[in-house]
Amino acid sequence: MDKLRFKFEVLGSSDGKTNIICISSIETPHGCVYNLPDELKPASKHTAIIATDVYTKIKNSLKRRHQSRSVWIPLDATLKIVYLDENENVEEKLKIVNMINLEDIIIDQRKNEYIQQIKTKLINKNNIYYKKVNKYEKIILSEEFSKKIIKDVHNNMCHIGTKQMQNKINPLYTANNLSKNIKNHCTSCEICIKNKSRGQNKYGLMSHLGPATEPFEIVSIDTIGGFGGSRSTKKYLHLLVDHFTRYAFIVTSKTQSANDFIKLVKKVTDSHSIGMLLTDQYPGINSKDFKDFLNQKSVTLIFTAVNTPFSNGLNERLNQTLVNKIRCKTNEISNKLAWTTIAHNWLDKYNDTVHTVTGFALRYLLYGTDVSILPTELKKDKSQLEWLEDRKLALKNSMKSHNYNKQIFDKNRTEMNFNVGDMVYVENGNKLNRNKLDELRVGPFEIIERKSNSIYKINTGYKKTESNLFHVTKLIPYIQTNI
Ligand SMILES: [Zn+2]
Repeated sequence: MDKLRFKFEVLGSSDGKTNIICISSIETPHGCVYNLPDELKPASKHTAIIATDVYTKIKNSLKRRHQSRSVWIPLDATLKIVYLDENENVEEKLKIVNMINLEDIIIDQRKNEYIQQIKTKLINKNNIYYKKVNKYEKIILSEEFSKKIIKDVHNNMCHIGTKQMQNKINPLYTANNLSKNIKNHCTSCEICIKNKSRGQNKYGLMSHLGPATEPFEIVSIDTIGGFGGSRSTKKYLHLLVDHFTRYAFIVTSKTQSANDFIKLVKKVTDSHSIGMLLTDQYPGINSKDFKDFLNQKSVTLIFTAVNTPFSNGLNERLNQTLVNKIRCKTNEISNKLAWTTIAHNWLDKYNDTVHTVTGFALRYLLYGTDVSILPTELKKDKSQLEWLEDRKLALKNSMKSHNYNKQIFDKNRTEMNFNVGDMVYVENGNKLNRNKLDELRVGPFEIIERKSNSIYKINTGYKKTESNLFHVTKLIPYIQTNI
C-alpha cells in the first residue's frame, strides 16, 4: 500500500468554544474506510502527518467548522511505520471503531412518526425503541437512516457482500426494505463492481458469436505473462487460435505492445483473411496502432470474455496446457532450453493433435496435411472433396458441443438488453494476465451504438473518438444510487 486517504474535518472542541482540525477517517486504496475514535481525531495526535507539506496546505484551506477535505497522502517510510503494520495492512493499527452511535439512533427514532404512533406496543430500553421480530429484539430505524448505516457498515467492513451484511445488520436492526436496500447497495457499489470477482450478477447470454463455420472466420487472441528464467529475457506469450480448426499460432516477446500483436496476426493475414478477432482488453490490443492495423486488414475487433465456453473453453484449456508443459520442461533438471524454444516445440506437436470436439487433427483441418502416425507408405491420399467433407463433419461436431456449452453458460446468466446511452462497466483483461490487484472492471462508460443483440459499441476513451465493440458478456450495468 503506498497511499491512504485522510479525511480532514474542522470540529468543535469538547467545550464547543474553539475549532480543531481533526482526521475523522482514513481510507485505503481498496475502499476500506476506518473511522477514528474521538480520542484519535485531533490532527495534533498525528505528528507525522502534521509534518508533511500537504498538511500545511490543508490547514490553510480549512477555516470554518464542519468544513472537510479528503486527500490521498503518499506514504513515506515514516508514515508507513505509523499507519501500516509489518504486512503493510492498516487493519491492525486502525482498529475498526463503533460506527453507529447511540445518539444518532435516538435522534432518528424521535423523528420517526411510525414509532411515535405505536410507542405503547414497543419495548423501550434506555430511551431506545425495540420491536420483537421472531426471537430477536430489534432496534427500529427509519429507512433513510438504515441506508446510511448500510453504507457505513459496508465501507467499514471492507466491502463485505450481501449475505455477510445481512448477517451483521438484520439480527440487530429493523427498517422498511432493509434486506432489499442491503442487496441494492452491495450490487451497485462501484468499488465492489470494479474489484470483486464474485457476487455480481452475470449478464448476457452466449449468442451470435460462433461456432465458426470456416477457418479464420473467428479467431481469438490471448496473452499470458509471468514467464522468464535464466535462458530468456522474454516474459510474454501471445496466442492466436482459429476457432474452426483450433489451430494455434504463438509469438513470444519482452513486452505486450501493439507490435507484438501485429506480428502475431500477420502470421495469419499474410496468407488468409480474418473475419472477426475476439480478445480481452489488454493495453497493447486496445491501442491505436493495433486497431489501425486491423482496420487495414478489415478485421473486426470484438472485446469479449475469451475464457468462456464461446470458444468451447478452447483458449483457457489451451493456455493451461501450454503453461503446464512449459513449467514441467523448464524445471526438468536436464533442461538446457529457453522457455520460448519449449513453447515453439510444443506448438508444433499440439497442432498435430486430434481435437476432442471436432474429431480431427488441427493441421489436417486447416491444410489437409495427413498427420497420422502411420508410415508414409501406408498413408492414403485424400481427395480435396473428402477433406471438405471432413470439415463439414467437424463443423457438425462443433455445433453440438457449442449448443451444449451454451446451455451451461446461459444457466447462471440473465438476458440483458442495453440501450444507447446506458452506462456500463467493462471487464478489464483476464485472470491469467492481470496483475493480482489490478481493477477487474473499468468504467462506467457510455453505450454509443447497438450493433446487434449481443454487440455494443462503447465509448471507452477519455478522448472523444475512442470507442470499442464489446460483446454483451463483458458488460455490467451501472446502477445509479442515491445513497
Ligand atoms: Zn462495496
